[in-house]
Amino acid sequence: MTRPRSRTGRSLTSLQRLAALCGALLAVACAATAPKPTPPVPPAVSIPIAPLPVRPTSGDAKFDAFLQAARITALGQGITAATFDSATAGLAPIPSIVAANANQPEFSKPVWSYLDSAVSARRIKDAKLMLARHGDVLARIEAAYGVPKEILVSVWGMETDYGAGNGGTNIFAALATLAYDGPRAEYARAEFFAALKIYQEQRYALSEMRASWAGAFGQTQFTPTTFLKYAVDGDGDGKIDLWQSVADALASAARLLAEQGWNKGQAWGFEVRLPAGFAYEDADTDTQKPLSDWRARGVKRIGGAALPAGADSAAIYLPAGANGPAFLLFPNFNVILKYNNAASYALAVALLADRMAGADPVVHTWPRAERPLSRNERFSFQQDLARLGFDPGLPDGLLGRKTRAALRQYQKSRSMAADGFATAALLMALEKDAAQQP
Ligand code: CA
Repeated sequence: MTRPRSRTGRSLTSLQRLAALCGALLAVACAATAPKPTPPVPPAVSIPIAPLPVRPTSGDAKFDAFLQAARITALGQGITAATFDSATAGLAPIPSIVAANANQPEFSKPVWSYLDSAVSARRIKDAKLMLARHGDVLARIEAAYGVPKEILVSVWGMETDYGAGNGGTNIFAALATLAYDGPRAEYARAEFFAALKIYQEQRYALSEMRASWAGAFGQTQFTPTTFLKYAVDGDGDGKIDLWQSVADALASAARLLAEQGWNKGQAWGFEVRLPAGFAYEDADTDTQKPLSDWRARGVKRIGGAALPAGADSAAIYLPAGANGPAFLLFPNFNVILKYNNAASYALAVALLADRMAGADPVVHTWPRAERPLSRNERFSFQQDLARLGFDPGLPDGLLGRKTRAALRQYQKSRSMAADGFATAALLMALEKDAAQQP
């Protein structure tokens, strides 16, 4: 997990924080009151819930104010003052994280380049080594959770290269930096308080709690909230250690995927061949149809075999548009998305798992001649769509779901293959059309 992801369920609104504070004050009030059925007048609550320590300033007033407020919230949630003060001693915003948090990459990496490195020959070779080395542990975890060992090793490889890249940042410094300001504050605040809870309950040494800049940690890069929901003691030594214990990390990943609805015995999907004249607007990870429907439309396996009959629902996914490979996706693909909500990530996990099981590489060629759009071009893309009356959502330069839907509408209106895939040629066509608008 190299970035904050969407599965972070809990977030603290200021109202909830206020409620937590009020709860703490009430508890003090109750403790100070004699147990009478009808107390005459409640005593005035003038005792602070815990003395606020005098902290040396971090050099950033907003950051200091965040920590002061967070301390009150944390104590209201049952975190001890000792835990909080130990976790946050000497914290200051990390400049590199502030910068990473604010920046959007100039170019988004094309999916084929991403897959070249994510599913490299070296990573496949290492995956096979890991399958052999941890065979017993993996067999036990697969039997317990129903998630194939290849998928687990694949997630492990994608997240940290099988434990090599655990992340080296103090988790509280990383999360406080993201939480005090910036676009990920809501995500990071929930994670910050979850990390405090883990620190208090699991009794890790602070020096052990190393994380990525986004606050994900351990060999399978759990965020603190996912740790609290899914982490398990896979090796049975009585503690959960996602940093050092391969069994703990893999069992925890398996539990996450199982509880997110992994269908035991069902594949993630496979590469398919689309017939001429295929309705590309239906090729979308969100558009589920029965297998029999795709079969009736002439979709075949990449080798030419017919799709299985049946009512299982599946989607068609074109990671690089109509000129690239096509994949049929079963619901398990969406379960991988719960680990990291990026379709290219889920595809890499799926393809790496296939390769370590001996499958052939993707057959259809990638449109490698397409050049990536720059940030300015991505913004222009959205502005041009809006000018032409297609709603791309907020112009954010990200070309997300809403922009793709608007692009499909534009493509349909111009009798193009409506694949929703942004290319430089399409941008030229859009600009020409938009220039003719009054
Ligand atoms: Ca353990």
